Amino acid sequence: MRIDLHTHSNFSDGTDRPSELINKAMSQGITTLALTDHDTIAGWDEAIQWLRPGMDLVLGSEISCQTEDGISVHMLGLLFDRANAPLQEMLAQTRDNRLGRMERIIARMNGAGIEITIEEVHAQLSEGATLGRPHLADALVAKGLAKSRDEVFSDWLANSSPFYVAHYSPTPEVAIGAIKDAGGVAVIAHPLASLRGRIVSLESFDSYIEAGLDGIEVKHRDQTPEQQQLLFDIASKADLAMTGSSDYHGNGKMNELGEFTTDLAQWEMLEARANARRIVRV
Ligand code: AMP
Ligand code: ZN
Ligand code: FE
Ligand code: FE
Repeated sequence: MRIDLHTHSNFSDGTDRPSELINKAMSQGITTLALTDHDTIAGWDEAIQWLRPGMDLVLGSEISCQTEDGISVHMLGLLFDRANAPLQEMLAQTRDNRLGRMERIIARMNGAGIEITIEEVHAQLSEGATLGRPHLADALVAKGLAKSRDEVFSDWLANSSPFYVAHYSPTPEVAIGAIKDAGGVAVIAHPLASLRGRIVSLESFDSYIEAGLDGIEVKHRDQTPEQQQLLFDIASKADLAMTGSSDYHGNGKMNELGEFTTDLAQWEMLEARANARRIVRV
């Protein structure tokens, strides 16, 4: 079994279409794949349409959250009911807010003499996709102002940079509540990945567990073995599922499909916590 529970398509900042993602995953021997684009389910239908016998598809989304102290947290919602309106409204609000936020980032960059426009950023975005900093990075690369997304993030777009602007996001507890109310399971993504900026304290997990957290993404390339051990301990103690995943972004990142995977027993335990059986299988 090769179970990868966290991947992106071009409906957010991945570069593969859902169809390509499905084909690659199947040809590389993934047996269970979750599609988790940032703050959207817009890629689900294409993924379902391209699914072939032999692989299970898990539909989800990676929800951008922010703690009251302004720390960014990503919450994977998996196996939720797409007809649940409050969850879809929460995602829509985040997406809407990303537009004004991008304009503010661009205004700050223009103020510093970096010439880039919102139109150039939109030109990098697929129809219906969630807008993010990676698309701004792609626009700067297309203009020859930078070499790669990585270079733009380290030079200009890090969370600690003067150009950084946050967007509306629910708290992790609110996102967990919305995922659970929609019948799905909530897995906190790469919680100790400090390259992304400030990270939450280990104590804050108590509050996420109380809100209904179902799992912790333990194995992920942005977490050291020591950090993975800390997360393993929290998950064991609280009977949470432990996952491992690639956070694949196509050419947008180095991450390879299936580079970290989830054990079958952990996946079965996690799946059982959804309120209905929603794995897609053809
Ligand atoms: P945003 O959602 O606009 O705040 O942008 C955050 C997204 O940028 C995350 O999904 C990351 O996957 C992506 N990201 C962060 N750092 C990098 C990097 N160095 N190279 C490419 N993508 C990155
Ligand atoms: Zn991303
Ligand atoms: Fe993430
Ligand atoms: Fe991700």
